[in-house]
Amino acid sequence: MVKCISVLGATGSIGRQSLTVAAHLGIPVAAITAEKNIRLLEEQARLHSPRIAAVYDEKAASELRTALADTSVRVVSGPEGLLEAATAAEADCVVTGVSGSVGLLPTLAAIEQKKRIALANKETLVCAGELVMARAAETGAEIVPVDSEHSAIFQSLGGALRHPGLRRILLTASGGPFLGLTGAETYHKTPAEAIAHPNWSMGAKISVDSATMMNKGLEFIEAMRLFGVTPEQITVLIHPRSVVHSAVEYVDGSVVAQLASPDMVLPIQLALTWPERKPSPAPDLDLFSAGDLRFLPPDLENTPCLGLAMEAAKRGGTAPAILSAANEAAVGLFLREKLCFGQIYECVAGALGSIEIIDAPSLEDILAADGRAREFVYGAVRG
Ligand code: NDP
Ligand code: MG
Repeated sequence: MVKCISVLGATGSIGRQSLTVAAHLGIPVAAITAEKNIRLLEEQARLHSPRIAAVYDEKAASELRTALADTSVRVVSGPEGLLEAATAAEADCVVTGVSGSVGLLPTLAAIEQKKRIALANKETLVCAGELVMARAAETGAEIVPVDSEHSAIFQSLGGALRHPGLRRILLTASGGPFLGLTGAETYHKTPAEAIAHPNWSMGAKISVDSATMMNKGLEFIEAMRLFGVTPEQITVLIHPRSVVHSAVEYVDGSVVAQLASPDMVLPIQLALTWPERKPSPAPDLDLFSAGDLRFLPPDLENTPCLGLAMEAAKRGGTAPAILSAANEAAVGLFLREKLCFGQIYECVAGALGSIEIIDAPSLEDILAADGRAREFVYGAVRG
């Protein structure tokens, strides 16, 4: 089990649950971060007594500094603050619970210090997975997935990221709130409708990604990078119950899956305790009441974001970074009601079709591609 953690994105869905798990396991917290939700970050700082609280927004950081003046918590700000939290010396593990590619540089910084990465922030692996995995292999930093599907694959591989007998990954998807609807029926869906996920309670961005199925596309690329497989070695299956969290097929035809109730506490806890297992506060799975565990092929015609991500995965280079950043920008605009649901796909497809894709990119190439993709989407909306 890890000895001490830093939680990036502590005020979010993954971050809040990570702090609950840390308290349950008695793991001390070195650093917590937020973008601007200082009300909750203050509460968390008083409860968990971290040494560092990092707030991305400078103004909010200075307010929190005043609010925490009676404590020994050091409040830091901006991108440097996030890096300081990610590299806090006493933490041997960093939970990457921030949303979006802002997680990339802090994750790399923690890898340089050989910390375990409890990796929730999938955008990091989508935009720069090859660089991140190579650097982790060089420094010896462990990457343990938190995303429930990737945790299931990791567990089905016996707690490893590689297995010589692996033939195929069976990546499951709930299908999201609009399962069974056509593209025309979902085109004008509202943010409130898109966020209402049937099985999981998550942050706004990933909930919209689940509704467009871009989340499964991002997870497809995340799985390629984590487990070193080709696009042809991943099969996506719609599994509306979210009980089988994913599976692997070995060369002898054996399929090994991981099943559990849909609760992120479990994969978060496993990333902190691995290779040990500890009793968890997550509800047990009752297979008698789990219902019909059916599997369907994805409907790529009506959820085109999934197909787009699979194409970007095959294209490689900066294509996944463009996809992910354009999607982040488009989802942000959709949540602010500046775009309609169906336009998310159009923006991402437009960015991928217009921005030059660079092969074997450096970190600078990836950050530049990310910036160009965002500009493309904001430009398209301004008209
Ligand atoms: P939330 O939106 O709930 O939380 C995001 C966190 O990141 C918040 O603490 C937020 O701070 C912070 N944040 C957002 N933008 C910035 C920024 N620019 N700079 C610094 N901090 C920032 O997201 P989730 O917890 O749902 O998701 C986090 C990550 O985990 C995502 O990559 C997601 O794909 C992945 N994931 C999530 C799952 C889930 O069940 N939620 C499941 C599997 C993966 P503030 O509160 O101040 O805005
Ligand atoms: Mg997932």
